[in-house]
Amino acid sequence: MRVLFATSEVAPLIKTGGLADVSAALPAALHSMGVDVRVLLPGYPQVLKALPSPQTAADFPALPGFPPARLLSGALPDGVPLWVVECPELYQRGGGAYQDEHGGDWPDNAQRFGLLSKIAAVLGSTDSPLEWKPDVVHCNDWQTGLAPAYLHFAPGAAPCVMAVHNLAFQGIFPPQTAAELGLPAECFQPDGVEFHGKLSFLKAGLYYADHITTVSPSYAEEIQTDVLGFGMQGLLAHRRKVLNGILNGIDTEDWNPAADPNLVQAYDATDLSGKSANKRELQKRMGLHVDPKVPLFGLVSRFTRQKGLDLVLKITPQLVALPAQLVLLGSGDAGMQRTALGLSHRYSGQVGAYVGFDEGLSHLIEAGADIFLMPSRFEPCGLNQMYSQRYGTPPVVHATGGLIDTVVDCSAASLKRGDATGFVFDSMGASSLLSAARRAVVAYRNKKTWRTLQRNGMARDFSWDKSAAAYRDIYARLMQ
Ligand code: ADP
Repeated sequence: MRVLFATSEVAPLIKTGGLADVSAALPAALHSMGVDVRVLLPGYPQVLKALPSPQTAADFPALPGFPPARLLSGALPDGVPLWVVECPELYQRGGGAYQDEHGGDWPDNAQRFGLLSKIAAVLGSTDSPLEWKPDVVHCNDWQTGLAPAYLHFAPGAAPCVMAVHNLAFQGIFPPQTAAELGLPAECFQPDGVEFHGKLSFLKAGLYYADHITTVSPSYAEEIQTDVLGFGMQGLLAHRRKVLNGILNGIDTEDWNPAADPNLVQAYDATDLSGKSANKRELQKRMGLHVDPKVPLFGLVSRFTRQKGLDLVLKITPQLVALPAQLVLLGSGDAGMQRTALGLSHRYSGQVGAYVGFDEGLSHLIEAGADIFLMPSRFEPCGLNQMYSQRYGTPPVVHATGGLIDTVVDCSAASLKRGDATGFVFDSMGASSLLSAARRAVVAYRNKKTWRTLQRNGMARDFSWDKSAAAYRDIYARLMQ
């Protein structure tokens, strides 16, 4: 079985969020199951730098609507074959994968990700210059959303899967972009790539893909509703027979408290004593009072309303008064960044904030915090709440999407059943978040309950094995 996995980010080469983690771990899991999977990625500078001696696999001097490009072949650090689209005009620049250094979207994003989509489609059709032809093309989010549309009009096209990691990002561009990117005029209509008079990359993927997946069973239901469908609910409900939710796994080697180079002391479920050394280190590193007893809340997140960060910032004075400490790591919304830093000055010694992206610190927070905060308004799957359970750091989460599917609320019944792993609150708001955080602190003070929660979470299997097998089954069905 040959699968082309087209994506705009892969950890550790280039990462802005969970898509990068999934794009590393899922192909690796498929690869180890014997699937011949190849990852296709844009040639950002970070990616080219990580290819020590790339081979040219193909040249694309004249794809209609795009500058000349070249396909380089290499491998990801874990051995999964990698194809990189080299096109200096579109990818060779500073800044981030989607935005410039000031946080503005690159003005040529339609071309940048149109090209990625186009090459995925060429490789998936009989137009491909390569001998290797995929049985299935697996596309991820809007950045590869045009691939199913291009495939639809390509000769001998492989079937394709459109995976939705976050429906909120849709890749919407002016209407003339469709023709500029070489899409046939006939597809620019509501039964096609058009979304309220504009071109939507994601809509194109959802409309033309043979199968749609998303990253948790609950989110698969939620995106068919007016509340979380972001305008795509009608199309998704219409296509529900080919839509299903497969929970993301986590990379259990990267995220393993028993062997994590970012921690100052390793620990596991049989002996959690090493966790306190990490708490001390985290308190020191973030300028907090070193106190083994005070409950320490941790958060690692993009700073956006989606993640409920505004609510965390709002309840910080009450959290501090519990008493508790708080560590925040993330970046995004400029106002939220300022507020987070302001709180760390006002409550110096009790609140620590680091604005930026720091992989090592994110691991230390998972290990050193006592309680993890993840009050997302919506959450397709979410990874941090799984990491935190694996690190013995029970999460406080809002009852939405993948958070519902991965966290079991602590109650007398769930403690008795033996499956309680965290704290789930229903109605989204500062007071519900605060009362869930309070419940967590009460439980934290009861050593026996706390150990039970920690061990239940650490015992859960969040590995990719089951999920990767579910994707393989979908590919097999599409090949029939
Ligand atoms: P999303 O993809 O919506 O941002 P996820 O929880 O699915 O959210 O995945 C986010 C990933 O990015 C996690 O691996 C998380 O640890 C990481 N992450 C987010 N912000 C930061 C940051 N500032 N520093 C380090 N890692 C971060």
